[in-house]
Amino acid sequence: MIRNLVIIGSGPAGLTAAIYSARAFLNPLLITGREPGGQLTKTTVVENFPGFPEGIMGPELMERMMEQAKKFGTEILSGEVERVDFKKSPFVIQVDGKTINALSVIIATGASPRMLGIEAEKRYMGHGVSTCATCDGFFFRDMDVAVIGGGDTALEEAIFLTRFAREVTVIHRRDKLRAGKILQDRAFKNSKIKFLWNSVVEDILGDDEGKVRGVVVRDKKENTRFVKECKGVFIAIGHEPNTAVFKGQVEMDERNYIVVRDFVKTNIPGIFAAGDVHDHRFRQAITAAAMGCMAAMEAEKYLSERS
Ligand code: NAP
Repeated sequence: MIRNLVIIGSGPAGLTAAIYSARAFLNPLLITGREPGGQLTKTTVVENFPGFPEGIMGPELMERMMEQAKKFGTEILSGEVERVDFKKSPFVIQVDGKTINALSVIIATGASPRMLGIEAEKRYMGHGVSTCATCDGFFFRDMDVAVIGGGDTALEEAIFLTRFAREVTVIHRRDKLRAGKILQDRAFKNSKIKFLWNSVVEDILGDDEGKVRGVVVRDKKENTRFVKECKGVFIAIGHEPNTAVFKGQVEMDERNYIVVRDFVKTNIPGIFAAGDVHDHRFRQAITAAAMGCMAAMEAEKYLSERS
């Protein structure tokens, strides 16, 4: 059997693509990937997704998207793609030993935030630890927060967080920032932003309610440790697009993000990409969902032009 459309990934981009393409009678097959629901399943309340004025828990939002995709006939396959061959048509996708053939594919495998690799960051994720200031900054009004990292994202997040937080401490492992000059100047001029140089976060501490109360910082130069009290910890040490399996199959940039033209088209006709797998700029659920919609509409157009 040759599928019309296979969607790889089950975050907002993949599930929105599924909803649109199922409603266009393309009978899509969606392969969930290792983390069904994607990054939002790791957050708590989402307050900026339109339509939920009272907020909605991230996992519930994703479950509801999944339900909506199924309601219109999307077939869901739990599993992880092991290999693809986009050099011949129909395209070939291998999942858990099974081979699937498809006339079109939407890649919506997202990106994963780089993490510090300490156990506590998982425990407090969504309870004070965040990887998205735009999403969670609002919860830290008049509180002290820390941002870890020294790149453009870290400084952008730190500057953004000063709208809410009382004080923002940027904790960076070196004594020089990687971020561009303009952002550095803006951050240095902002009186709410403080810097801890040559410093690494070794642990995150919680209170009785299971929420973050501070971080254990090691000063690498002095080789001393101290606790920096803060209610929020924003980890901003970069993202990795989930594209390893597509290497050599579609065009990627030097950071392994898929290159798109005309919004969602890859260099291979019939293969589309939506969401954080190509967008390292906005990285929002709503923007990923919008691209999922675009990819589904383009896939529908591509298939109808072929038949
Ligand atoms: P990035 O440029 O890779 O910076 C990551 C930062 O995190 C670096 O300062 C790095 O330290 C630090 N880091 C990495 N691993 C770490 C670890 N395990 N522990 C502690 N610190 C760690 O990532 P990004 O800031 O997300 O930016 C990604 C790309 O998007 C860049 O090309 C950036 O220019 C671009 N971007 C641009 C803008 C803008 O122009 N407005 C905004 C956001 C992103 P070291 O410096 O010591 O390596």
